[in-house]
Amino acid sequence: MSKFLNERYRKLESYTPGEQPKDTVLTKLNTNESPYPPGPKVLEAINSREAANLRLYSDPECAGLKETLAKQYGMTKNNIYVSNGSDDILNFAFMAFAGGRTEVLFPEISYGFYQVFADLYNLKYTKVPLKEDFSIDPKDYVCQNKMIVIANPNAPTGKALSLYEIEEIVRTNPENVVLIDEAYVDFGAESAVELVHKYENLLVVQTFSKSRSMAGARLGFAIASEGLIADLEKIKFSTNPYNVNRLTCAAGIAAIEENDYYRENCRKIVETRSYTAEKLVELGFKVVPSKANFLFTKCEKMDGGELYQKLREKGILIRHFDSEKISQYNRITIGTREEMDLLLGAIEEVIG
Ligand code: PMP
Repeated sequence: MSKFLNERYRKLESYTPGEQPKDTVLTKLNTNESPYPPGPKVLEAINSREAANLRLYSDPECAGLKETLAKQYGMTKNNIYVSNGSDDILNFAFMAFAGGRTEVLFPEISYGFYQVFADLYNLKYTKVPLKEDFSIDPKDYVCQNKMIVIANPNAPTGKALSLYEIEEIVRTNPENVVLIDEAYVDFGAESAVELVHKYENLLVVQTFSKSRSMAGARLGFAIASEGLIADLEKIKFSTNPYNVNRLTCAAGIAAIEENDYYRENCRKIVETRSYTAEKLVELGFKVVPSKANFLFTKCEKMDGGELYQKLREKGILIRHFDSEKISQYNRITIGTREEMDLLLGAIEEVIG
């Protein structure tokens, strides 16, 4: 830290991203990427159609991508916002919808960035404890003067609320923005997108990083009432109007055009998730039922930190969180069947 850093940020604890190793020998099951590459249309779109145009700025309106997404989700272009990864949307949403009298409410165990954004903007916040089984109780989210942020499915637990429960939260908070972070929704949970037609306070956030195999392209989108989308656009045009680059924009359109390919990948991941969960239970692990592309699991024989370390020594990266409440647990991304067999074999050796 230099002496020049604004005092406001001196104590800020930044987000710690999962490790992105340079060593490709490692089997990477730590940051919930897809084990499958983007589809052929995406590769084609990046290689030929757009590369020659990189000398030009990208379209600040992202009109083509918005139209494609609007058609896909039965919305109009004015209900869609696109951004440089969904983290960027979360950032803008915290900037736009919280502060002053409006505090933030989010689950105690959830995506680490919520706390970071709250700290970054000096917001008051409340963390709501989960139930014993890691589920979220919708009754805890009836409140006033709050922006409510819920990941569904939640991360790192993988547990999902039903559409009925989500609607209860949105319906009982007409004066609060309810942000539903659906980064992992394509792996078996119910999406809240259809509720956008009914509720002006609902902001649904999704990403191309997980089910659509494009974490490295950085593309997220939000679906909401025209008013909330206009608010996000206002922040974007006041900070970084070209925040979605040309290659990513073209890749996003191409990915929507080959939906069937990604749907099939999701099906395979869900199948491999059931297989892995079953095998882990056989090995004596506790496994939280998951609707995401990862499993939250506890090894009864050793602490989560120790398991992480032992697997790392065998070339397999999983995730361990420092937080005291979940230090016995690990989060394991679902890879290919072969990767999971490698993992299961390594676990057997490690736990003896
Ligand atoms: N929300 C949740 C719950 C996540 O786990 C992640 C991925 N780390 C994100 C949002 C951000 O995803 P991205 O910025 O890649 O779209």
